[in-house]
Amino acid sequence: MLHQGLVDALKRELIGVPHLDFLVDVALRGRTTFKIGGRAKVFLVPKTPEALKAALSSLSSHGIGYHIIGAGSNVLIGDQGLDCVVDIGGLNWVKELDGSTIEVGAGVRLKRLIPLLIKKGLSGIEDLSGIPGTLGGAVAMNAGANGVCMGDVVKEVLIIDQSGIRWMSREEMGFGYRTAGAIERQHAVVAGARLKLRKSNPKRIQQRIKAIMRRRYKRQPLGGKSAGCIFKNPAEIPAGVLIEASGLKGYHVGDAYVSRRHANFILNRKDARAKDVVELVWRVREKVFKDHGIWLEPEIKGLGVRL
Ligand SMILES: Cc1cc2nc3c(=O)[nH]c(=O)nc-3n(C[C@H](O)[C@H](O)[C@H](O)COP(=O)(O)OP(=O)(O)OC[C@H]3O[C@@H](n4cnc5c(N)ncnc54)[C@H](O)[C@@H]3O)c2cc1C
Repeated sequence: MLHQGLVDALKRELIGVPHLDFLVDVALRGRTTFKIGGRAKVFLVPKTPEALKAALSSLSSHGIGYHIIGAGSNVLIGDQGLDCVVDIGGLNWVKELDGSTIEVGAGVRLKRLIPLLIKKGLSGIEDLSGIPGTLGGAVAMNAGANGVCMGDVVKEVLIIDQSGIRWMSREEMGFGYRTAGAIERQHAVVAGARLKLRKSNPKRIQQRIKAIMRRRYKRQPLGGKSAGCIFKNPAEIPAGVLIEASGLKGYHVGDAYVSRRHANFILNRKDARAKDVVELVWRVREKVFKDHGIWLEPEIKGLGVRL
């Protein structure tokens, strides 16, 4: 529990740090695509890697736990809120290093980055079009679509952990299915990344993106409030197929319900609470396990909730 005395001490220490916003009592629901979650007692927005490093070392010297968020498009935040959140969205530089290598701040949204790359005739992550996350979130989650993952184009990642700030090679990152091992193991934070892309014809990339977006709109409930796919796909069969076969499309707890268009999406109809989503997640996985003998693992991250 973060008490007021500690918040005041932290504020005194961090208030003078350049390029760092220090906010208190911030509503989190509007900062997620699910539109669910309580408030953050402390909310830090670093605008440079150095400000991020200063914030993290102050937090750890006071023994204050924190959660990182980017665009909040793959998280479920608890109704009771969180003590401390570090929002990476302020790290938003884009720098061309050579004809095909780009350095990008962790806070840059993919929907801003991909059009920039098209203009430069650079191909490699257009398959991720429609993913509403930041570069940092996409690296941390190794986001992917159409057989392409963020880790495929990453050359190096600027990370901040206990030992400071440094560039880590793709090999060290330990990318796997919707995970970056180094980030999970070391509780590290992605501050930016260098991407190695291929020269291509902008028109051809645009056409590919159009086809990808058409397919997304047809298959996914993109207008609704969700956090994308709730469960990881088991090796044998997509999670959505299992959930649909268990007759759970449209099944709901409170305002949280299983999408009728794509059974691996849970939607917030209006005012769903995190506890509704958690209850629904557990009921879905228990029914799927009973019917098919497969235990679904969540893809989304619970912040302040156990999924
Ligand atoms: C409609 C919709 C469609 C989606 N489609 C896809 C898809 O096709 N493929 C796919 O892979 N995902 C998909 N997603 C999920 C999501 O958009 C991705 O996982 C995205 O990469 C998450 O980025 P974010 O910035 O929103 O991260 P957040 O949701 O803010 O965070 C996700 C996790 O990453 C951690 N994190 C975030 N930033 C950092 C950082 N800089 N350093 C360390 N840890 C960090 C957080 O602590 C949290 O654990 C979809 C989501 C929605 C809502």
